[in-house]
Amino acid sequence: MNFKEYIRVIPDFPQPGIRFKDITTLLQNGPVYKEAIDQLKELIKEKQIDVIAGPEARGFVIGAPLAYSLGVGFIPIRKSGKLPGETIEADYALEYGKDKLAMHKDAIKPGQKVLIADDLLATGGTIQTSIDLIKQLGGDIVGAAFLIELNYLDGRSKFDGIDVVSLVQY
Ligand code: AMP
Repeated sequence: MNFKEYIRVIPDFPQPGIRFKDITTLLQNGPVYKEAIDQLKELIKEKQIDVIAGPEARGFVIGAPLAYSLGVGFIPIRKSGKLPGETIEADYALEYGKDKLAMHKDAIKPGQKVLIADDLLATGGTIQTSIDLIKQLGGDIVGAAFLIELNYLDGRSKFDGIDVVSLVQY
């Protein structure tokens, strides 16, 4: 399936020079969304995974159905101030802008095997910060899965030794 046909590219959003990959047009199509999750699952199913962690908000849309299909837990990585329990936090930079991510301190047990999932790998900043948080909690990162990868930003070079898979590349 050519998933690119279902991803809408919006120029100059949210700021000039960014070509925003809008996945809402893919998500609204049930069979295409299902096929995307099924194909991502095929790419990771041989890995030993205890939990999948995904950053707010589009990481939930990819990570949660993947976790459900594998029968493993899902850990939300959220923007600062959203999680009710005790958290650890870290700053991060985006392809556009800056933010802070947080996880519950008890979200991951030391030694658990964690796969990270998100909609899109751009500079890799979000995932680098997610990796830092997961490692602080003692998690063992077994890979990262994305619907989309922006090859021209070479985000995967940040993850030496971590297996990165993606379905669609630009
Ligand atoms: P990064 O931290 O640079 O890898 O950015 C990844 C996050 O920012 C992803 O969670 C995306 O949701 C979002 N993002 C960054 N660049 C784009 C883009 N060109 N189109 C759509 N989303 C993007």
